[in-house]
Amino acid sequence: MPRHGGHPRFCWVQDPERSAGAPSLGLLWLSLGLALVLVPLDSVVLWAPARAHPLPPQGPPARFSGTVPHLQDVFGWWNISCPVCKALFTAINFGLKKESNVARVGSVAIKLCKMLNIAPPTVCQSAVQLFEDDMVEVWRRSVLSPSEACGLLLGSTCGHWDIFSSWNISLPAVPKPPPKPPSPPAPGAPVSRVLFLTDLHWDHDYLEGTDPNCADPLCCRRGSGLPPTSQPGAGYWGEYSKCDLPLRTLDSLLSGLGPAGPFDMVYWTGDIPAHDVWQQSRQDQLRALTTITDLVRKFLGPVPVYPAVGNHESTPVNGFPPPFIKGNRSSSWLYEAMAKAWEPWLPAEALQTLRIGGFYALSPRPGLRLISLNMNFCSRENFWLLINSTDPAGQLQWLVGELQAAEDRGDKVHIIGHIPPGHCLKSWSWNYYRIVARYENTLAGQFFGHTHVDEFEIFYDEETLSRPLAVAFLAPSATTYISLNPVSPPSFQVTVST
Ligand SMILES: [Zn+2]
Ligand SMILES: [Zn+2]
Repeated sequence: MPRHGGHPRFCWVQDPERSAGAPSLGLLWLSLGLALVLVPLDSVVLWAPARAHPLPPQGPPARFSGTVPHLQDVFGWWNISCPVCKALFTAINFGLKKESNVARVGSVAIKLCKMLNIAPPTVCQSAVQLFEDDMVEVWRRSVLSPSEACGLLLGSTCGHWDIFSSWNISLPAVPKPPPKPPSPPAPGAPVSRVLFLTDLHWDHDYLEGTDPNCADPLCCRRGSGLPPTSQPGAGYWGEYSKCDLPLRTLDSLLSGLGPAGPFDMVYWTGDIPAHDVWQQSRQDQLRALTTITDLVRKFLGPVPVYPAVGNHESTPVNGFPPPFIKGNRSSSWLYEAMAKAWEPWLPAEALQTLRIGGFYALSPRPGLRLISLNMNFCSRENFWLLINSTDPAGQLQWLVGELQAAEDRGDKVHIIGHIPPGHCLKSWSWNYYRIVARYENTLAGQFFGHTHVDEFEIFYDEETLSRPLAVAFLAPSATTYISLNPVSPPSFQVTVST
């Protein structure tokens, strides 16, 4: 179980511990949920299920199960038989499939968002329109699915309520080798220099002189307006406020790497676009991906760069459907573009799994295996996991296979990813901790981003929770969001012995 160092601050929509004053996507999520309740669809019974469990953006299953005994008492559901319950929810789902009903849910959510002052009216409007399709689909398939809803309302004889229930991946029967405490590299041992970049957050619309304290969730940009006459406007290079970075600042950061190099390779742990999450199109996200990838390549030349997928790469933000979601709602628009942009850095085998699930493994040099995880499959903010949160994309089981193969070969492994494992859904985290503990001799380093601050997580043995057995390094962001000092590498030197 990891403990945290440092004092994390978080981006909008990233985490419940986000910065004070920033609006919450969780509230938007809640207004969409409430809107589902308030829209008079076919049946008044829609009141009960959705009001009974306004969906928290994260949370232990215990919180849900704790509410279950009260539902029947509060709403009188004991009078309804199981088949009637299922028929009602089937009718509701049928109603929600209609485009006009999604739009009605959306318009109520916009009203609620404005009424509850969740965000400025224009942000409410754009955000709901951006999120409504995917969120209603997820609500329909999870919270309002006949089996889930009636299982919750009438008990397990009528259906199975298992959203965020616990699950276990299986570890191989191979016994764990006795732990070997890490030792520092021998004097004169060969050294690899790795550049660790994260959370660049390029704002295409950054504009010097605009209001750094506007009402929107992201400022210093076209549309932020001018500051009051007594206050300074956004700076040329950036601003200590809720602002991201103009391209010139990222250009300058990367062009200044010379004296810190040369580097053997780069770990780049995601979050490329800005925080204007209420209005991002797929085209905007792909422009950020290709522009910044080209910039990184321009300054690092032939040095191999190993990226990981951040939660801001998609739109709607945090929306990463597992591979069982097919067609236009799937993430293939993003993963295909990543595979194309990153092809010069990644071998064919890695591109193959990247295209399917946004994760991959490769060998940067003999004796070292690098594993890039798509941590959006652990994320409390990834609303698609409401449909099924059990080892999404089979990623952790795949990780076990990779680690076992590395152990068999005597290789060491580095893991990179965006969201650090201590910030995940609990079942995902506990499985990850089991894996880290099992392969403590093989796992030589872990590198994450997302929190925007310089910190670390320490993992302890499962038996006593007192023997530290691994550490994950979390790098600070390049962006100043929110009111942070930008990083000019190298900010921190870490020695990891392989
Ligand atoms: Zn970020
Ligand atoms: Zn992030």
